[in-house]
Amino acid sequence: MTDEGEALHIPASDHRLGLLQGDGDPEDATLWEHVKPRRLQEDDWMRFESYTAEIFAAMGMDLDTPGTRATPRRFLLALFDSTSGYEGDPKLLTAFPTECRGGPDCRISQIIEGPISFFALCEHHALPFHGVAHVGYIAHEQIIGISKMTRLVRLFARRFTVQERIGQEVADHLVELMQPHGVAVHLEATHLCTQMRGVREEDSKTWTSFWRGAYEDDSSLRDEFLGAARRG
Ligand SMILES: [Zn+2]
Ligand SMILES: [Zn+2]
Repeated sequence: MTDEGEALHIPASDHRLGLLQGDGDPEDATLWEHVKPRRLQEDDWMRFESYTAEIFAAMGMDLDTPGTRATPRRFLLALFDSTSGYEGDPKLLTAFPTECRGGPDCRISQIIEGPISFFALCEHHALPFHGVAHVGYIAHEQIIGISKMTRLVRLFARRFTVQERIGQEVADHLVELMQPHGVAVHLEATHLCTQMRGVREEDSKTWTSFWRGAYEDDSSLRDEFLGAARRG
């Protein structure tokens, strides 16, 4: 007999649990993404708005039009939203228990997730860089769901940061969280700070890869992962 109750009886050790997001996963409330809310007082917003208006005017913007009158405030709100990653605490993210299916020597195949799109602000210019992340891991006794992987990448991306740091932070947190046999992170991004000014290399992309655990000494794992990441 199948009914809804029975459908929920999935053993906690089932690897597929990582794919079943949404239903019954309390972390989908994503409170960990907003545990440190930044609160700016209204008079701070007003002051920042006037500074921003002054800067935009000096650059040449006519602030006295219907389209631009609210631009300084909209800009600040967009900046605030784009840096919401500072409000989260990745340490509150939890993993699911599973079983290592690798036998006595504990070797199982890698799981590769991606592309995970992300948007970040470069800390050198405060201009956006954006692209996709691929994350690979070889689970041991803990796994996490795809939605959490996506949220973890975005938590570190929605800040003033650099591409290398996002990759390191994602890799190190996954190691801490899952204690897996290995973690690989690959990021591919377009940096508007180089594209919009100076040398106008419009098609250039920056690639970075990070290896932890088994990936550090096994080039076949790295090749398999990079092959998947480059296929998108
Ligand atoms: Zn930059
Ligand atoms: Zn294991």
